[in-house]
Amino acid sequence: MPENCLFCKIVRREIPAKIAAESEQALAFYDINPQAPVHILAIPKAHIENAMAVKSEHSGTLFEVLKLAQETARKEGIDKSGFRLIFNNGPDAGQAVSHLHMHVLGKRKLAWPPG
Ligand code: 5GP
Ligand code: ZN
Repeated sequence: MPENCLFCKIVRREIPAKIAAESEQALAFYDINPQAPVHILAIPKAHIENAMAVKSEHSGTLFEVLKLAQETARKEGIDKSGFRLIFNNGPDAGQAVSHLHMHVLGKRKLAWPPG
């Protein structure tokens, strides 16, 4: 639920996070346990559980999430070298936080396929 949700608490500034960028409907902050030299999470401010919960009414918000990924990639200097955008969805993907988040990973060569 949004009251107890970790990322909703970050949006409400009840839990500290290093903010990378912000817009009206989206927030980007640095992952607490980075898996690459650049590891940012871009999230909708509204509580959306995961990719399966996304509806057409979220389209504007989702665009803002992607815009923050672009903006932070540019700011971190990985817009040309490349980066990876990931939404983990559900148990098999290891989704640990039930608030939609786009991982922005870069500044190193990323292996494919992922583990
Ligand atoms: P998931 O595994 O759900 O796709 O990703 C959750 C991500 O949230 C993980 O990469 C984890 O390191 C990050 N994370 C978990 N708790 C916190 C926190 O309190 N602050 C920040 N900045 N990141 C967190
Ligand atoms: Zn939430």
